[in-house]
Amino acid sequence: MRVILLRFGELYLKGHNRNIFENTLINNIKKKLAGEKFSFSKTYGRYIVSGYDEKNEDKILECLQQVFGLYSLSRAIEVEATVEAIENIADEIVIGDSSFKVYVKRADKKFPISSMEFAKELGGIILDNNPNARVDLYKPEVEFNVDIRLNGKAYIYTETIKCQGGLPLGTGGRGLLLLSGGIDSPVAGYLISKRGIEIDALHFHSHPYTSELAKEKVISLAKEISPYTGDINLHIVSFTKVQECLHMNCSEQYMITLMRRIMMRVAEKICEKYSLGAIITGESLGQVASQTMQSMTVTGEVVKKLPIFRPCIALDKEDIIKIANEIGTYNTSILPYEDCCTVFLPKNPVIKPTLERCLREENKINVEALVEECLLGEEIIKINLK
Ligand code: ATP
Ligand code: MG
Repeated sequence: MRVILLRFGELYLKGHNRNIFENTLINNIKKKLAGEKFSFSKTYGRYIVSGYDEKNEDKILECLQQVFGLYSLSRAIEVEATVEAIENIADEIVIGDSSFKVYVKRADKKFPISSMEFAKELGGIILDNNPNARVDLYKPEVEFNVDIRLNGKAYIYTETIKCQGGLPLGTGGRGLLLLSGGIDSPVAGYLISKRGIEIDALHFHSHPYTSELAKEKVISLAKEISPYTGDINLHIVSFTKVQECLHMNCSEQYMITLMRRIMMRVAEKICEKYSLGAIITGESLGQVASQTMQSMTVTGEVVKKLPIFRPCIALDKEDIIKIANEIGTYNTSILPYEDCCTVFLPKNPVIKPTLERCLREENKINVEALVEECLLGEEIIKINLK
């Protein structure tokens, strides 16, 4: 029988949390494949997906590759764990003049032949049927793997496909991603979800300075990361009043810093309202003026009760772009619509802002009223791919 054999990674490390992690992972796998016909079973150290429509196999593999907590998977043939049944499969394999290696792994030590001996024997069978093939233990072109498990079955496969790794979605709680239309924040959402955190997203727009298309772009980005992050509640808030007020009353140099401080305050309020446990941004150290150590100190200072996670903090732009391409957000991110931060962009933003100066600038405006106004206009879009 054709099956997909799944391996999970870091779960091994989690001691008594293991059950919670495993159950969450299994639920996530089942949710991901909802709509397909399939059976799911588990045996120590492996999960098995079977009984699916073979013409959907590629699609199922693609879905499983998006599930955090899975380490790798293989298309496999499942047979009874008997010498004869396994030999029969070895007997059928056609590998032409390729080099090959047989690798036998016995989780079930009651299997009557040792791994080494059985590998040698199977290698002999393959050589008999493929006289031009040759054994290469170091760099084989084909790996004939036999995985004998404790459920009385053996799984035979020749390829191992890498999955995402990470921790099962939902085991880390739920946070709020500050999602702009740029390259970095969607990647930050993906990376944080890889550590098991589900997300809501918060986007600030500056309509009518920014177009409706800028908002559509952010909705597209949220849809594009949701196969990894799960369903997203996208909170959309107008930042126009804030920007106009800062522009009229405060130092131009401090504009971005003050905007960031207000964004963070709004974000923390939204977290409070919807029980979200962290704020996540796409900031990367040194990338622009507002992403220095001093800038992050003064923007972080307004957040009193929650951690701020910045998963891209130590990544080069190139690395971020590479991930954006892998997860499929890059092409949307580079669409040329104005972001709210670029609307009133100062010519020389301050690189090392001080808290004292921020407070002096904020004394010129009514910060609380601005925050409240942002919250009043909140719109929520549910991003749910199913
Ligand atoms: P990105 O590529 O994510 O836009 P960036 O390199 O353009 O990042 P900034 O514009 O300085 O950097 O923004 C830093 C972070 O602040 C973003 O990664 C995002 O988390 C948040 N942010 C910026 N603009 C917005 C916005 N309009 N709405 C929500 N969050 C935003
Ligand atoms: Mg940006």
